Amino acid sequence: MLKPTEKIWRNGELIRWQDATIHVLSHVVSYGSSVFEGIRCYETKSGPAIFRLPEHMRRMVDSARIYRMEIAYTAQQLSEAAVELVRANGLNSCYIRPIALRGYGDMGVFGGKNPVDVYLACWEWGKYLGEEALAQGVDVCVSSWNRIAPNTLPALSKAGANYMNSQLIKMEALANGYSEGIALDSNGYVSEGSGENIFVVRDGKIITPPLGASVLPGITRDTILKLAHDLNIPVSEGIVPRELLYIADEVFFSGTAAEITPIRSIDRYTIGKGRRGPVAEALQKEFFAIVEGRAEDRYGWLTPVPAAQLV
Ligand code: PMP
Repeated sequence: MLKPTEKIWRNGELIRWQDATIHVLSHVVSYGSSVFEGIRCYETKSGPAIFRLPEHMRRMVDSARIYRMEIAYTAQQLSEAAVELVRANGLNSCYIRPIALRGYGDMGVFGGKNPVDVYLACWEWGKYLGEEALAQGVDVCVSSWNRIAPNTLPALSKAGANYMNSQLIKMEALANGYSEGIALDSNGYVSEGSGENIFVVRDGKIITPPLGASVLPGITRDTILKLAHDLNIPVSEGIVPRELLYIADEVFFSGTAAEITPIRSIDRYTIGKGRRGPVAEALQKEFFAIVEGRAEDRYGWLTPVPAAQLV
């Protein structure tokens, strides 16, 4: 159960958590017209720091643009709002959820005249697939549901409606005793998890599906592409046939919530040695050292949150 914090940011103001409500006839409720983000703020020795904040807010603005949704704030203003929110709630580490939605006004599919309301909330959130998952890996399946096809819902937009597809993938996986599902794209190639991008390792080389395979352009995905390069591990974006999963040395998920989560079995095929492999481990080590402020932030990925002023 979500643990409430004190404040939520709404259209430029900090309001009380319990006041951040919407009318049931808001456009978003019937028609799924929202775009959102998921961002992590990590505890470092010099205070809380938000990971890749400008990139997340840029994606938020991009997501809205794809849906002709006008957000009254720039990516820069949204970033400032996120810092203000974390600071106001006095959290050392948290998950931040910005949401823009078509609100209350007209009814009907066309929501262009409805107000676009913007909210930012944050709360304490642990490891998405469990603490143990990061070290041991998770058991997953290939979903019988495909990822959204091109020319249906645009995958590059992180829209609320996309997550109906994600929910089908996730619910089926859990119902069958797995912790996550991997969706194929409409051509039958590997796309991504219900809320994670995916990476496959074979013969020391890493491959991840391209943006054309109906994937979300993950910020963690991009982080891994850079870190793998720095670690001199060959990495590329390319079409991943389903069966490559079963003969891989390693497979792992990436995502803000999932961070870097190794996969130890897929459809009951044991992957590699059935536990976290050396590539995932090396990437995790580098990733956590940077986000927790133990290694130099050489890409400027951390936005510090100043301590709240004592009154
Ligand atoms: N794919 C989907 C469908 C997601 O929901 C997420 C989580 N935002 C990701 C991939 C990973 O993206 P990111 O690394 O930016 O969190």
